[in-house]
Amino acid sequence: MTVCRVCSGDSLRLVIDLGDQPHCNSLIGPEALAEREPYYPLRLFFCEDCTTVQIDHTVPKETMFSEYLYVSGTTETLRAHFRDTAERLTARLGLQSGDLVVDIGSNDGTWLAEFQALGLRGLGVEPARNIAALANDAGIRTLNRFFNAEVATAILDEGTPPKLVTAAGVFFHLEELHSATEGVAALCRAGAVFCVQAIYLREMLRQTAFDNIYHEHLTYWTLRSFSVLLEQYGLEVISANVVPIHGGTMELLIAERGRFPVDASVEAIRTRETEERLGEVETYLAFAERVRAIGRDLLAILESYRAAGKTVYAFGAPAKGATMLNSFGIDTRLVALATERNPLKVGHWIPGARIPIVQEGAVPEPDAYLVLPWNFLGEFLRRNQAYVEGGGDFIVPIPRPRVITAANIDEELAGIK
Ligand SMILES: [Zn+2]
Repeated sequence: MTVCRVCSGDSLRLVIDLGDQPHCNSLIGPEALAEREPYYPLRLFFCEDCTTVQIDHTVPKETMFSEYLYVSGTTETLRAHFRDTAERLTARLGLQSGDLVVDIGSNDGTWLAEFQALGLRGLGVEPARNIAALANDAGIRTLNRFFNAEVATAILDEGTPPKLVTAAGVFFHLEELHSATEGVAALCRAGAVFCVQAIYLREMLRQTAFDNIYHEHLTYWTLRSFSVLLEQYGLEVISANVVPIHGGTMELLIAERGRFPVDASVEAIRTRETEERLGEVETYLAFAERVRAIGRDLLAILESYRAAGKTVYAFGAPAKGATMLNSFGIDTRLVALATERNPLKVGHWIPGARIPIVQEGAVPEPDAYLVLPWNFLGEFLRRNQAYVEGGGDFIVPIPRPRVITAANIDEELAGIK
């Protein structure tokens, strides 16, 4: 029997079953096209004991993270976000020149580079060999490891404990959730503050952003459920905040219990979560109903383009795009190819849907783009305003499928700011 990843209870309730799907970031190379990629269950559950939302099936972390194709430095929106956050945290925590910042799941070092620019010392922990190498080449010292309690001990053994530990959009991928939290707790007992950023389940519900559900995201947090995990390791949230990146990200500052005063923001967010019934299964069953409606509407739009003889390409091939396509059985019959900026993805195929990925700009523009990384819509619309004004359409699947055309792009741009 499957037990809860956080409290080990056995009261998991099924929220939605998205069917068997391949691992979204295992893009298919030309040499592997002849074989069928492995498929794994993708099911979302709610724990009635501790309220943590989670998937039950774990694809081994070595399959998902030993080689990795996502590089944080590829969008301007993300770079600006990391720069702002580095400046804000440095000021708020009064960090001094030479202080150590450890980033868990540091990717290509984009975030640490911003701290280093402010005079701090950065140390990354990144399991993907290829990406850790990129960071080391760029002058960001990076350990090629999965972060856990053992790695925390090794960091403390170097003699200078970190003042700040960060984890952006990665901490909750961790298969070794408890060991990683224990490692964070050891660093916090040595005086560090832990800043974690993760997709906020509240925003995921509000936008019906079900495409955040994929095998890399094992757990989906509220302040309440994350606190259940922290309490097991003597930690507490001292500040809570929602930042707009990735369609709504929760940013928590965490420390050893009792070491720092707790900001009023924590109680405010806790209260709002209760009012919005984020701890009740009915809230999630209603979300599942909205997901099914997105599927019906999106398929109707794509079928109408096909019936009119129009071409549709995917704009971008993000991990979440695989969930969007594979949950609704969208393949090359409806979306001929995907255009992408990240050179690591070009020349591959999206798993499951088997849609080929080509370099952005290398093919003539289609009649419409299906925007898979809809969380960066503002940046894309501004970059492609001329395309839309010239008669091209943007199909946006979330929060409800809609089509942006020359007739309504001004309205959209005004709404995004
Ligand atoms: Zn639980």
